[in-house]
Amino acid sequence: MRKLLFTGFIMLGLYASAAQQPNILFMLTDDHAVQSIGCFGTIFENYDPTPNLDQLAAEGVKFSNAFVNNSICAPSRAAILTGKYSHNNGVRAWEEFDGSQQTFPKLLQDAGYHTVLIGKWHLHSDPTGFDEWTILPGQGDYYDPKFLDAKHDRKNPIQKKGYVSEIITRMAEEIIRNRDPKKPLAIFVHHKSVHIPFLWDERENDWLEGETLPEPPSLRDSWEGRPAIVTAHNKVPNIEMLHKNFEDGIKQKKTKRYNDPAEKSMTIAERNTHRYQYYLKSYLRTAKSIDRSMGELVAVLEDEKMTDNTVVVYMSDQGFYLGEHGMSDKRWAYEESMRTPLIIKHPKGIKGATVELFAMNLDLAPTLLSLAGVDVPADMQGRSLAPFLGGKEPADWRDHAYYRYYDSKGYNIPQHQAVRTDTHKLIYFPEADRYELFDMKTDPVEMNNLAENPEYRETLQKMQKKLAEARKEVGDEDEDVYPIKR
Ligand code: CA
Repeated sequence: MRKLLFTGFIMLGLYASAAQQPNILFMLTDDHAVQSIGCFGTIFENYDPTPNLDQLAAEGVKFSNAFVNNSICAPSRAAILTGKYSHNNGVRAWEEFDGSQQTFPKLLQDAGYHTVLIGKWHLHSDPTGFDEWTILPGQGDYYDPKFLDAKHDRKNPIQKKGYVSEIITRMAEEIIRNRDPKKPLAIFVHHKSVHIPFLWDERENDWLEGETLPEPPSLRDSWEGRPAIVTAHNKVPNIEMLHKNFEDGIKQKKTKRYNDPAEKSMTIAERNTHRYQYYLKSYLRTAKSIDRSMGELVAVLEDEKMTDNTVVVYMSDQGFYLGEHGMSDKRWAYEESMRTPLIIKHPKGIKGATVELFAMNLDLAPTLLSLAGVDVPADMQGRSLAPFLGGKEPADWRDHAYYRYYDSKGYNIPQHQAVRTDTHKLIYFPEADRYELFDMKTDPVEMNNLAENPEYRETLQKMQKKLAEARKEVGDEDEDVYPIKR
């Protein structure tokens, strides 16, 4: 594995004394696919989908192998806030987040930060650890969204006119411009985009119009050689599945409606291909509003002369399938949803670096605490990424990412545990006691399951051992088939 690549020069002094705590702009988005972002490498690069995120990466560090522990919204968000795996933060699937527990915003608040949260929360309980918060109820709406805050509950929400990403950006701008200069600011900008249904800002109506976008190589995966529990649960393992999102999208869409008379004369295969293009364009257009938001907020920091003392973080709560393996959505431990984009720019850090060692969503809490000069509590399970920002590789860095998905009652996806190393990935489906094994070097898009191949028996055993060790290391002693409640 290449470890740390960087260009530019190293500057030290990343760790703050109390008097020099940096401001923090933490942008968290929803379901933003790594493979759709320019700086991480995308088949859509000709369309320049993310110029502002690419610029942020050019001025900071991008983590090209950042993984989540559990690829759904609430569990990943709980892991980000607490720096702990699901079995230790209590959100395995749909549980309400226990807001009385330790989170890094609370610790920043204790250390003198003014903490503000705007946007999607989705942890069911009210936010804690924020001096001010304004959130979308549940998933929220793309157009004319309602918001809740400490004074406005679900019965009495505030409705704002316009497009959600734009509204959240303007609220964040107002907070930044009117900040208390005596206190460091930690602002959490949590966008709704790019969650389904993909409803974009009208400014993107013409973007990509008339273009034929490239298709990912695993779009028409036949799922051959995969355990029955995978193919049986995944009832529509082909691009027909994409239509559900498509239908959900047009139901609520307030911009151009999709109604293409040309489809009437098409075969099903042709129609699938045709609609897939619409799906992709809807997704990329919706994601454009996130990229614009980052560009605008970075410009606000510049205008407020805050660039030199503000850490900027960009990440999603997990990745997403843009048709890979014929899928939409997330949840599975395959790369597209186990990975998440992560970029961190420290004003005194290295520029334009790529870290290929494994980062995890659990690392953000210790990273931001250490950058703020706050001691990282011993019970946090992530590790600080701060040394990487200064161009240093920490000793004994992790050589694997451990993953667990619990919610077999939702979306017909079986429970699974996985371990990803530089060379292999093992996925275990305990309800059927079956495995998938992929060689990540020769088969990076995970089309060829080697678990039943006798030539790979030794590798399988090695990875089974690795998975057991990973579980032990993080203290995951839950039963193999966890009795999840909905
Ligand atoms: Ca999500």
